[in-house]
Amino acid sequence: PIHDAVLGRAAEFGERPALIDGTGGDGALTLTYAQVEACHRRVAAGLAEAGVRKGDVLALHSPNTVLFPVAFYAATRAGASVTTVHPLATPEEFAKQLRDSAARWIVTVSPLLATARAAAELAGGVEEIFLCDAAPEGDATRSLQSFLASTAPEPVLDIDPDTDVAALPYSSGTTGVPKGVMLTHTSIATNLAQLEPLMPMGSGERILAVLPFFHVYGLTALMNAPLRQGATVVVLPRFELDGFLAAIEKHRIDVLFVAPPIVLALAKHPAVANYDLSSLKYIVCSAAPLDAALAESCSARLGLPPILQAYGMTELSPGTHLVPLATENPPPGTVGKLLPSTEMRLVALDDPAKDVPAGESGEIAIRGPQVMKGYLGRPDATAAMIDADGWLHTGDIGRVDEDGWLYVVDRVKELIKYKGFQVAPAELEALLLTHGAIADAAVIGVVDGDGTEVPKAFVVRQPAVPDLSAEQVMAYVAERVAPYKKIRQVEFIDTVPRAVSGKILRRELRNRA
Ligand code: ATP
Ligand code: MG
Repeated sequence: PIHDAVLGRAAEFGERPALIDGTGGDGALTLTYAQVEACHRRVAAGLAEAGVRKGDVLALHSPNTVLFPVAFYAATRAGASVTTVHPLATPEEFAKQLRDSAARWIVTVSPLLATARAAAELAGGVEEIFLCDAAPEGDATRSLQSFLASTAPEPVLDIDPDTDVAALPYSSGTTGVPKGVMLTHTSIATNLAQLEPLMPMGSGERILAVLPFFHVYGLTALMNAPLRQGATVVVLPRFELDGFLAAIEKHRIDVLFVAPPIVLALAKHPAVANYDLSSLKYIVCSAAPLDAALAESCSARLGLPPILQAYGMTELSPGTHLVPLATENPPPGTVGKLLPSTEMRLVALDDPAKDVPAGESGEIAIRGPQVMKGYLGRPDATAAMIDADGWLHTGDIGRVDEDGWLYVVDRVKELIKYKGFQVAPAELEALLLTHGAIADAAVIGVVDGDGTEVPKAFVVRQPAVPDLSAEQVMAYVAERVAPYKKIRQVEFIDTVPRAVSGKILRRELRNRA
């Protein structure tokens, strides 16, 4: 079970700090490994006494806090499947997830209690809402903290790690409706074991958890992996540049796991110069395409080795590729090498029965222990993604070089079809970002007057260069790409809409276009 896979060595780490509240001053709330171990067991007993049964779905609705992992492992120890919820979800969005997952329990935090109540009301079927923190004055909602005094026996359950669902995260909804992804204890724990030797964190590393635990990347890289190895996790509830930089300085952070927008800030923002970031040893980036030139300027500015990328998706528990920490000079732009006990094929886009010839791009298909059990309640969507031979078709296009390094080209669904040619928006976005007057950019396909799909760029100008024109943007790209990839329309905007993981929300741009 995942709680044992992660906390199995907690007793050995004992008084070492496991989690530190990165927003606190000198008296910041800190939980030692011994406390996490003891607390999650007591809370599990309290949850079982409150009625949580094996197989129940529990919705964990919280920003990052030091108690998030305690609630998570307590819930899985009580036999629940944990569905993590975006803390900024509206009551309607939250209710949809509650209904879809048939959740019976909610764990939230007091500032979000009203949202959780409204969602539970809309969805129906929720037995009780618990709080991680203390209830507001005069409110009777039970806090998990009250379970610490529980004398109830610890639940003894025969969890079958190979089939029981530990986590039920929802995919990000970048390309369609978010779907509940059933991840068994084994798929998550095996993925941790696959990653560990390639990216060890067992020497008392200090990790900054600024990406959300509720997303599978944060859940793995910032919570399960470091806590399994005895690292110290400094927890921040949200990304805000100064607070983030101050936390690195104050807590002497060694390792950052980030997404591309944070790399962009580290590479370009003037505030970076105001902080002592010399404790940093390396940076890992994942979840969305990272431009190689941007990565290089970030590491050069901070005096760090090249940024290490990793690749995965919610449906893959989540990792399949990463650049091992020991790599001296990874080739620019690579997302890494295939993990052990995992297989990959690159499937031809026009014929799913065929693989592409060596060196060419195809759809990444994966087979291995980290493949999800399926989408909850959606056998058709599951069958569309995992074929009869167990290959999960990722919807991402990749290419492998002669040394086995993978490069992600783009998503199949986001390719722009220009007169029979395929144009990858990520390539054009990376190119646009190399222009000194462009602060940020996104590209989508739009249909022009002749009914042809053409690449359109949404461009954020650098504040210092407000007169950059559409013609200049188009000319810059036209000089550097084959003619079919030319940008044919440009619109200037204030910010590129992005998900927390850094993914461009192209839906929103499409609506706008
Ligand atoms: P949905 O499937 O609901 O549309 P989503 O695919 O965005 O949402 P996630 O599981 O959060 O949800 O994201 C996985 C995707 O993130 C991958 O399929 C891939 O497109 C992208 N991705 C992950 N890592 C990288 C990386 N290193 N480089 C480029 N893209 C990446
Ligand atoms: Mg997806």
